[in-house]
Amino acid sequence: MPRLNALLGFYALLYGSFAAALDYQLQPREIAAGVYIFEGRQEHFTRHNGGNIVNTGFVITDAGVVVIDTGPSRLYGEQMRKAIATVTDQPPVQVFITHHHPDHFLGNQAFADVPICALPLTQKIIARDADALLDNMYRAAGAWMEGTEAVAPNCRAEAGKLTVGERRLSVLAVAGHSGDEASDLMVYDHRSGTLFAGDIVFHGRAATTPHANIQVWLQVLRDLERQQPQILVPGHGPTATDSRAIRETAAYLEWLDTTLREAAAAGLDMAEALELEIPERFKSLAVIDEEFERSVFHLFPAIDQEVLHGGAGNGTR
Ligand SMILES: [Zn+2]
Repeated sequence: MPRLNALLGFYALLYGSFAAALDYQLQPREIAAGVYIFEGRQEHFTRHNGGNIVNTGFVITDAGVVVIDTGPSRLYGEQMRKAIATVTDQPPVQVFITHHHPDHFLGNQAFADVPICALPLTQKIIARDADALLDNMYRAAGAWMEGTEAVAPNCRAEAGKLTVGERRLSVLAVAGHSGDEASDLMVYDHRSGTLFAGDIVFHGRAATTPHANIQVWLQVLRDLERQQPQILVPGHGPTATDSRAIRETAAYLEWLDTTLREAAAAGLDMAEALELEIPERFKSLAVIDEEFERSVFHLFPAIDQEVLHGGAGNGTR
């Protein structure tokens, strides 16, 4: 059966090269002494990138490593943990999850021996919507998701200061990207002035809005601009050392909100809103066309209702 053997050999080769290709190639990048990030691509989830479109990070202390977000899959979490071990002998001692979107927490399995902390609302949403959040990623990223389960954070994060080893950290509870109430967590490292902003800030990429309250979000961004962290790690896109990323996110959200309100007031329907022109100043943002389309689907029905009934409402959902 030489032909069959040859065929089997070919498939084995194909499978082998495919399995070997499932490598996120995570390289920890030090952005301040003891503060590292893994920077994701400025893309949508695909079977090519395995969902590695997100920034995760960690802070090394002399009492262990604090991890911020665990990425889109079990494999990512495992490879992230190995990559952390290439720069420190300290073990992970605490994980913070910034919010409930699947690219930020589906690596939790790799940190099952460590407290995984999130805001109470984030814990609740993940426990409630685990299957749906997981399904989305399996559909988008395919084989990269093998063996991934949605593990809900097992530790309740509270806003305030904490000390880990020699470092002081602050946990900030805000909202706007993931919902109306405290559902977006940010972690601030006092020594380096680094803020892990989660998806409150997008940089060089159009913001995602599936659970957004834009008015609440804009207020958080205004506060953030006043505080101006020395180093800002956005949920997606390059690290920033000035307020440009904050202002860019705010400008896009303001435009989105105003444009959809004007469209509803002018009597446009959703199909017409989808055809609206994206201004030149936002065209360089990664995945702008797709995100604008998704945002119209998410936001327009509620805005349309609000405008139709003449109420100011509680802000855009
Ligand atoms: Zn995200």
